[in-house]
Amino acid sequence: MQPIALVGIGKIAVDQHVPALAASPDWHLAATVSRSGTVEGVEPFTDFAAMLAAREDIRVISLCLPPQPRFAYAEAALKAGRHLMLEKPPGQTLAEVHALQALAAAQGVVLFATWHSRMAAGVAAAKAWLAGRVVQSAHITWREDVRKWHPGQDWVFEPGGMGVFDPGINALSVLTEVLPAPVHLTAAVLQYPANRATPIAAALTFSGGVTADFDWRQEGPQTWDIAVETDGGSLLLRDGGARLLIDGAEHPQGPNREYPALYDRMAELVAAGRSDVDLAPMVHVADALSLGRRVVVEPFHF
Ligand code: NAP
Repeated sequence: MQPIALVGIGKIAVDQHVPALAASPDWHLAATVSRSGTVEGVEPFTDFAAMLAAREDIRVISLCLPPQPRFAYAEAALKAGRHLMLEKPPGQTLAEVHALQALAAAQGVVLFATWHSRMAAGVAAAKAWLAGRVVQSAHITWREDVRKWHPGQDWVFEPGGMGVFDPGINALSVLTEVLPAPVHLTAAVLQYPANRATPIAAALTFSGGVTADFDWRQEGPQTWDIAVETDGGSLLLRDGGARLLIDGAEHPQGPNREYPALYDRMAELVAAGRSDVDLAPMVHVADALSLGRRVVVEPFHF
């Protein structure tokens, strides 16, 4: 098992990364870096540079920070010759990620920009089913409760936090994975709370009859669906890609193991010395923020 360090011990580290690493045959969680969070039994650091200097044996770093501080940490890790895994979205901007790609290549280390939703149980089968078909239309409905998934996390509403695109980019990561041909954004309407810098809801229109509805104000049951109509039937991915229905019939796909699959993939990439950085989901977000018509809605408070 290889030692790995986790940086940013917050919600997603505790919910997903720590359990995935604990169950992994490939990885041993050897250190954490966080100003306040720790993991029982794991050497804690509060300073990233100190960890990099003290633990030369740890060659792989996984960053679970919000996007705003992430670039500085990523750059430091790559400059220190470490392989690097990034939570989604891989940066605040496309140019940040291009710079990290170039740095990783120059340093001869692996960079993995993860998209956890692409590892959802139904995604590979959906991609295979769509491969031989012509897509006539598709609609994404991604509606969740920001207070449940980002309790008190003001960074999501700060510049670089992406607002509702923080979850919406997960839908776009699935869309860009499963569609047999690429689409591009043609219009967007973005709803900004009067007191916030990022949108709380978005309606997107793409080429090829593809539309998306993202909303962060849904209480009660949460909706993460992608419906696709083709010349050869209809496909529905539900629950963020965990469930697959073809022409209304459920096609069981086994357990949903998004984060364990990401760490399996990182082990493969490190063994092969290969990076994996696909910015297609983030291009759509950048385009929406570029083309989007801004509508101001009621203020949002956690
Ligand atoms: P979070 O809990 O707000 O933050 C994670 C940790 O990052 C914090 O505990 C904090 O640790 C550290 N941090 C925050 N701001 C920092 C700063 N300015 N400088 C240095 N460290 C800072 O966020 P999260 O929900 O885990 O999300 C982190 C990433 O995971 C995001 O990119 C998000 O899109 C992704 N993600 C989140 C979820 C979810 O359900 N929340 C799901 C999938 C993916 P210390 O203060 O202890 O240093």
